[in-house]
This record gives sequence, C-alpha cells and structure tokens, in this order.
Amino acid sequence: MFLTQRRTIKTSRRSHRRIVLQPTPDVPQNLVEGLYSALKQTDTSVELMRPVTLPKTSYYCPRARYRAGSIIHWFSRNHPAHETVIVVTTSDISATKGDKKDWGMIGLGLCPGNACVVSSYRLSKTNTLAQLYKICLHELGHTSGLPHCSESYCFMRDAEGHNITEEMQRFCAGCNRRMHI
Ligand SMILES: [Zn+2]
Ligand SMILES: [Zn+2]
Repeated sequence: MFLTQRRTIKTSRRSHRRIVLQPTPDVPQNLVEGLYSALKQTDTSVELMRPVTLPKTSYYCPRARYRAGSIIHWFSRNHPAHETVIVVTTSDISATKGDKKDWGMIGLGLCPGNACVVSSYRLSKTNTLAQLYKICLHELGHTSGLPHCSESYCFMRDAEGHNITEEMQRFCAGCNRRMHI
C-alpha cells in the first residue's frame, strides 16, 4: 500500500483538463487497475481507456525500444486538447538527452501539453505500482508546464537517470500551486 496525493492538487474549473489513462496491452491488469484507482483519488474525472499498442512509427529498431517523444506526440495529436493522456507501458522507452542520442527513461511528458508516457521497464519489480504512480504525477506536472524542482522530496525533482521514486514524497508548495490538471 502507499499513500496517494489526496486533494492536494489544485483543480479549478477554468483550467481543469480531463485525465485519460491509456494502457498498452502488455501492462498487467492489476497494475492498470491499481494506477487507475490511485489516480482517481487525485482526480475523480480520470477515465480508463481500453488497451492500445504503441504506434509502430515510434519503434526504434537499433535498440529494440520505443522513442518516448514520438509516442507522446502521436497520442497528443490523437486526443483533444482538453484531455491529458497518460500512456502506461511495460516497454522500454528512450529519448535524446544532452549528448546521449538514445537514453533509456521511465517517463516523458510534453511541457506543457496534453500527453505523457510512463514505463515500468526500468522500475524495481517490488512496489512497481507506487513507483509508477509517482512518475505519473511527475509527468502530469510537466503537462501542466512545471519544470524540474530542486526540492529533494518533490515529485518534480529531476531523476537524472536514476530511480529516485523512494525519495519523491509529494509536490512542494510551489509546484502544487502551479499544478492545474
Ligand atoms: Zn521530468
Ligand atoms: Zn517542487
């Protein structure tokens, strides 16, 4: 069990966007349902979609993984602006980071925008749900336009290639104020 961030994300009618959880078929059902119910405690309007596969055009053959930027742009194009889609997958995802052309990652979100992707591939096998949930909140922060944060406990801290979900506990006051999902 883990604590969800209840009622701490500010929502306003003016800026509220509906969150859509979009699993791929490989994600175990218990993980999908656990994530859905955790997100629902954060925002009751979350909708769970039927599984769909990642776009073939996002597949990066040389490393047998998917390009995260391509995934989020594809889903962004295929969802209306008032919906923020969270794609969840067990596939490995990557993006260009600095001088690293194809850097493995656990999540990426448009900043700001209406799509993000999270992957369980690089997470530890124990506590996967709690880790994925925190990554979802981090990426939702980016879709709200939030940059990375220097507070060590904040969900918006930059993982810099490591799994720091254990240390991420909540949004700091500054980030929480700027969240508008
Ligand atoms: Zn980030
Ligand atoms: Zn913060």
